[in-house]
Amino acid sequence: MPTIKETLLTEQELVTIAERFENSSPQQVLKWADDRFGKRLALMSSFGLEDVALVDMLWRINPDSRIMTLDTLRLPTETYTLIDRIRARYGIDIEAFTPDMQATADMVGTHGYNLFFKTIDNRKLCCGIRKVEPLNRSLSSLDAWVTGLRRDQGMARGGTQIVEWDDGHLNYKINPLANWSFEQVREYVDQHKVPYNELHDQGFPSIGCAPCTRAVEAGEDLRAGRWWWEDDPSAKECGLHEVEQATI
Ligand code: SF4
Repeated sequence: MPTIKETLLTEQELVTIAERFENSSPQQVLKWADDRFGKRLALMSSFGLEDVALVDMLWRINPDSRIMTLDTLRLPTETYTLIDRIRARYGIDIEAFTPDMQATADMVGTHGYNLFFKTIDNRKLCCGIRKVEPLNRSLSSLDAWVTGLRRDQGMARGGTQIVEWDDGHLNYKINPLANWSFEQVREYVDQHKVPYNELHDQGFPSIGCAPCTRAVEAGEDLRAGRWWWEDDPSAKECGLHEVEQATI
């Protein structure tokens, strides 16, 4: 039995749209999504390079578009500085979702502030409380969310569709940059003078929470700096995107 949200697009429409958008620009995809979902659409931004490009694109299409972020309370100072710069540059509100404070206090009380370094289970617990639960809360007011996923980011992201049904969150997932390269994103950001995280210029292609992100060396996987102390590359997801296909 399909959910109400699934009935917004038939399965056949979804396949047709995903195929058609393979040859469309990200802006065409975003325009379609804005027209189709209106205020029930939001860009979920972690303010990486892909996300700031999408903020700029979406703002040019509709300055009242919704932009959301997950503030884990462990982000680098540079990311908070960037969020302030984006707000000022575009004159937009950013809806920030923070972790449940009681759950966070209980976790820290039991396992310590830097529990994630001890075991993968602890790391997943922390991501669950600081990211996954706030994401679920944020998505409950939406029918569709926009992400900056790209297929060549590795891990399970190779199968990302430009428009897909997100069974884990019962929402449509719009990935306008799925077939873009990192260089294309960089070019867009440079061309449009989009504010970006200064950590990108210090060897951080992918930026998450401060303690869990390090710079990468030339030739290393773009996400090698995330949870850098863990050996298993297949475990390097925080649960935000892994429900349906195996990606903030
Ligand atoms: Fe916790 Fe690190 Fe996950 Fe951030 S990335 S939620 S600090 S484990």
